[in-house]
Amino acid sequence: MMSLLVDIHTHNIYSKENKVVNLISLMTGEPIPLHTKNCFFSYGIHPWQLETQKKDALIAVFEQEIASNVFVAIGETGIDKARKISLELQTEVFEYQIHIAKQKQLPVILHVVKAIDEIVQSVSKIKPNVPMILHAFNGTKEQIALLSKKGFYFSVGSAINNPDSKIAIALKTIPKDRLFFETDTNRQDIALVYTKAAELLNMPFETLQQTVFENFKRCFPFAEIDFKML
Ligand SMILES: [Zn+2]
Repeated sequence: MMSLLVDIHTHNIYSKENKVVNLISLMTGEPIPLHTKNCFFSYGIHPWQLETQKKDALIAVFEQEIASNVFVAIGETGIDKARKISLELQTEVFEYQIHIAKQKQLPVILHVVKAIDEIVQSVSKIKPNVPMILHAFNGTKEQIALLSKKGFYFSVGSAINNPDSKIAIALKTIPKDRLFFETDTNRQDIALVYTKAAELLNMPFETLQQTVFENFKRCFPFAEIDFKML
């Protein structure tokens, strides 16, 4: 069966290849760039935006843009306790976006820094019933066990290149049907992340590609992939 590499979270909108399915995350206010096929877009209020912009203004723009129905996911959104932004405000704006994701039945790309308990609490309360994908996940096997039981997905990025990182050690404990990879802001080829992961998982590259592609199709059944002229 035909499969493609998937970059589930990237901010790099240029030099994208047709052979990679890209989910490009736009922050609220960012215009939709010109793009090639197999590029899809996610839209969200990033918690960092609350540092410099007013909540009501952000929500007004977000609401207007999200009504266009060109997005296949909400995010990145979440809570970042490494930043000096009130937790109450971050939680409010995060939960607002989870409600929208629930309403529109769109998956969510999550930005979580030192706030996993808060994220789990909000999600358990709202029960959006959509795939919740933890971007740049770098946690332990205990966290993976708990979060996968709660239905979360895991997107792994360049942290696996460091053999001492938590995720390099715990990668094999992520259920294969919950796994994604990403480049985020790195100008790195997503294939390199897959190569490293395949090595750590002791799994053929092609099998890993097929597995993650199946995950994408299951989470994003409405994203139409174009296999022509690859
Ligand atoms: Zn990002």
